[in-house]
Amino acid sequence: MKLIDLKPGKSVEMSDIHAYKSDVNNGRYIYILAGVHGDEVESIYVLKELLANAELWEKINRPTIVVPIVNVDGYRIGTRTNSHGVDLNRNLPASSWSHVITEPQYHPGLTPLSEPENQFLVSLFQKYPPGIAISLHSWRPILNYNGDCIEVAHFLAERNQYPIAPSIGYATPGSLGDYLPEKYSAPVLTYELPRIGHLRTLRDVWDENKLALTDLLTSDLLNKYCLL
Ligand SMILES: [Zn+2]
Repeated sequence: MKLIDLKPGKSVEMSDIHAYKSDVNNGRYIYILAGVHGDEVESIYVLKELLANAELWEKINRPTIVVPIVNVDGYRIGTRTNSHGVDLNRNLPASSWSHVITEPQYHPGLTPLSEPENQFLVSLFQKYPPGIAISLHSWRPILNYNGDCIEVAHFLAERNQYPIAPSIGYATPGSLGDYLPEKYSAPVLTYELPRIGHLRTLRDVWDENKLALTDLLTSDLLNKYCLL
């Protein structure tokens, strides 16, 4: 299949948020996201490498949406939050959303869905209903499943040996993992990659995850999430 450009969203600073859609439409969409946290460069690098693999996308034939960098302003200046200082993964309109600011880096925004980057994501969800989302982050390696996708976590863990967990260890009100299962009955696999450091480069992170991701995307495992 081919991935075609959608009309980009706009960030707080009016930068384009690029998004791509498969030319396959019959079903619910597999979402693949990175850079919800702008400083998580590992997630952005890995999705860029995946996107650059033209042969891979030719082998896939299922409804798909890719957003390579959700928080484009944060990525440009190296911050977790967007230009309003809001954590986009605490600002979605899940029933769990809370105005409480537990730590500055988890600022949820003044109201749910206050941020233009999330408004763009939600507009995509409304137009192209999600069946599952694979959201790439980086912190310490964890395959965190929310909703009914533990088999996806197992499939990946067989290839990258990352631990599987139903929670990252603390509450994440207003997160994608809370929002999509509740609103669309769509599970979310929050795929935490390792951070780079003096012993690990971006290329190492990609090498460690290339097989897991390309095998997943070319397997039949995701088909059931596309069923209407
Ligand atoms: Zn993150």
